[in-house]
Amino acid sequence: MEVIRIPRIMREISKELRFKGKSIGFIPTMGALHEGHLSLIRRAKEENDIVIVSIFVNPTQFAQGEDYEKYPRDVELDKEKLEALAIDYLFLPDVNSLYPEGYSTYVVVEGLSDKLCGIFRPGHFRGVATIVCKLFNIVKPLRAYFGQKDYQQSLIIRRMVEDLNFDIEIIVCPTVREQDGLAMSSRNLYLNEKERQSATVIYKALKEGERLLNKGEKPLDVKLKMHEILKNEPLIREIQYAGVYDPLTLEEVKERQNKYLLAVALKIGDTRLIDNLIVE
Ligand code: AMP
Repeated sequence: MEVIRIPRIMREISKELRFKGKSIGFIPTMGALHEGHLSLIRRAKEENDIVIVSIFVNPTQFAQGEDYEKYPRDVELDKEKLEALAIDYLFLPDVNSLYPEGYSTYVVVEGLSDKLCGIFRPGHFRGVATIVCKLFNIVKPLRAYFGQKDYQQSLIIRRMVEDLNFDIEIIVCPTVREQDGLAMSSRNLYLNEKERQSATVIYKALKEGERLLNKGEKPLDVKLKMHEILKNEPLIREIQYAGVYDPLTLEEVKERQNKYLLAVALKIGDTRLIDNLIVE
């Protein structure tokens, strides 16, 4: 595995690889790698000649007062995990190389960015779309891999790729969970033992929502039931959203339809957690 820190050099390597006809699979991450990330990397390895992973804690996607400073960073451990998977390149840029003095261009995917997480994290998806756009231009992948865990993000990236005519296939991989159902996340590291235990209620609420939808219950009743389950967990400080949404528009769904997105965002202590399920 080669570690590349300078965007210009990464771009030159990728250009040459593409010129030689190699397919590049790309996985953008913010590090603190766990099995969720590694599952995307394994999939990319199966489907491409070359695999490039980026680790970059992107400041522009953190809203004021969020956890940018304390976001978990352990590059040495991450490198070991990536070495073990024998990826080809780790792209590890620093903030100044991607956002130098005078930086002023941003990508906004309108509409979708203002729903769900967008309501509680102003500017978040503008930061995400901008950094992914930049990384796509540097790494020039044929395929890029994202997790369903961040469903709204994957939808926004797909929209951006279509709207801006990127020639990149977006592949969304299933959410990897702990044994008790909690979706793996770098932010789970923030949870103390009691909080970690209480976080299992998220998956329970989603699974109950799924069961009720499959039984034919109305989306609005399903939402109420999910809230009831979550409210019974004393360590949950704030439920930001929980309910049944349209998987394409992210609008709340009130009547029965063919496919639903069940999604939850909440805070346990200071830790914000999200999860979702698609129900057909
Ligand atoms: P992050 O480092 O949190 O920005 O995540 C990098 C990529 O890994 C994103 O595409 C995430 O959706 C994906 N990811 C994070 N957690 C999981 C998980 N538990 N299962 C599958 N993919 C995940």
